[in-house]
Amino acid sequence: MLWDVTVIGGGIAGLCAAIAARRGGAAVRLLEAAPRPLRGGNARHGRNFRLTHETPLDYVPDTYTAAELRAELRCTTGDTDRALTELLIERADSIAGWLIDHGVHLQPPGTGVMPYSRRTAFPLGGGKAMINALYATANRMGVAISYDSEARSLQRAKDEGWTINVRSAGADAAIRTRSVVVCAGGPGADPAWLREKFGSAAEGWMVRGTPYSDGRLLDLLIAAGGCAIGDPTTCHVVPVDARGPQFDGGIVTRITSIPLGLVVDRSGARIDVAGAGSQPTHYAKWGPRIATCPGQLAYLILDTDGLARAAPSALAPITAPGLSDLAAMLAIDPAALLQNIDHFNATPANAARTITEPPFAAYPMRPGLTFVHYGIKVDPTMRVVQADGSRHDDLFAAGMIMAANVLRRGYLAGLGITLSAVFGQIAGEEAARHVRG
Ligand SMILES: Cc1cc2nc3c(=O)[nH]c(=O)nc-3n(C[C@H](O)[C@H](O)[C@H](O)COP(=O)(O)OP(=O)(O)OC[C@H]3O[C@@H](n4cnc5c(N)ncnc54)[C@H](O)[C@@H]3O)c2cc1C
Repeated sequence: MLWDVTVIGGGIAGLCAAIAARRGGAAVRLLEAAPRPLRGGNARHGRNFRLTHETPLDYVPDTYTAAELRAELRCTTGDTDRALTELLIERADSIAGWLIDHGVHLQPPGTGVMPYSRRTAFPLGGGKAMINALYATANRMGVAISYDSEARSLQRAKDEGWTINVRSAGADAAIRTRSVVVCAGGPGADPAWLREKFGSAAEGWMVRGTPYSDGRLLDLLIAAGGCAIGDPTTCHVVPVDARGPQFDGGIVTRITSIPLGLVVDRSGARIDVAGAGSQPTHYAKWGPRIATCPGQLAYLILDTDGLARAAPSALAPITAPGLSDLAAMLAIDPAALLQNIDHFNATPANAARTITEPPFAAYPMRPGLTFVHYGIKVDPTMRVVQADGSRHDDLFAAGMIMAANVLRRGYLAGLGITLSAVFGQIAGEEAARHVRG
């Protein structure tokens, strides 16, 4: 069969692309490398997504205007594509409605345990429920979905469109398609790729999201002449529990209680980050700092008061009745730890969070990668731009694989899902328009 549109990757971008292309009348195939229980990429871990609105809505209070989003995006961007950034801002007011129309439920503000947010909406049941709803909709609309199906190469067909070689359950097959939308996520889930870009220090990192977004498709697009964009050595990295899984720890292994205690490296020496303070984004500053520690390992030390105020984490802290016992459990020199804690407690600036009351607790921390600021250049129709400036009229990319077009550094909470959903939707619409007119 010759498909009209084949979408590679079944995360939020791929699902939005597949649904939009199907709405445009195309015969759509969706290839997802993960098995069904792990489908959906990183949006499974997502809590909320950013949206603009001029009035309070059922799922978001107060207002958050396009002008505010534009101003906040300026802090993160640098040398970005203005047209794509404006397109994102323009569609950020309709994406929630589009997701609702396709089966996603959003949580009313002030209910459940979600914090107040006028900038973001929270899918009811979390990112996993959102993903499940979109899969159900895609399935109902007639998108042909294949799990365990990894696209391994992409070749231009002699007559029309593309041939995709797919490995599924150990067997290789060729798929013919008039157009391709690549939504295979940003690079970073491949330890060998990380080591190549970030050096041997990356061996101590953990990947917070899916192991299936390994960057292979990005490499393929670049090898075929696609224009790379962004910096493969700039990334978003946060402290995560070192005892968590190497991949897919999600948000529950993130350590967010650093402002309540003291951080030491594995020698017991105190480490700090200038300006990190207790801002909600402090952890994005701590991730890179921990990445420079010996063994990429650090420990958050809390006393019983700090622990009582700390947000719960997936893994219980290591606890001990005394600091020397705790040091022994962490294999840290007790004298060094005690000396640094005494010094910390004696510093007037730390008066509100001294470490004095037993029992004591520790969280071992490693850097956890969220995404890399690197991807493929696209134009406002989501067509992949070649290094020579040309483009194929039937090759599109959307989602984190092209996020660096608008996000060169830093991050805004909730932007990943919005960006992937908006650009996925546009890519699907354009691919359907290309094949169906
Ligand atoms: C722990 C964590 C928490 C996050 N929380 C939030 C949040 O609260 N709000 C927010 O806005 N953003 C959040 N993000 C970011 C957000 O999840 C991503 O920006 C977004 O999900 C990216 O979607 P995507 O579809 O482009 O890529 P991905 O989610 O990476 O999906 C890519 C998909 O492609 C598939 N794939 C990869 N290679 C192939 C191949 N060769 N063949 C076939 N399929 C392939 C993968 O299996 C995967 O399903 C979070 C990210 C992480 C890691």
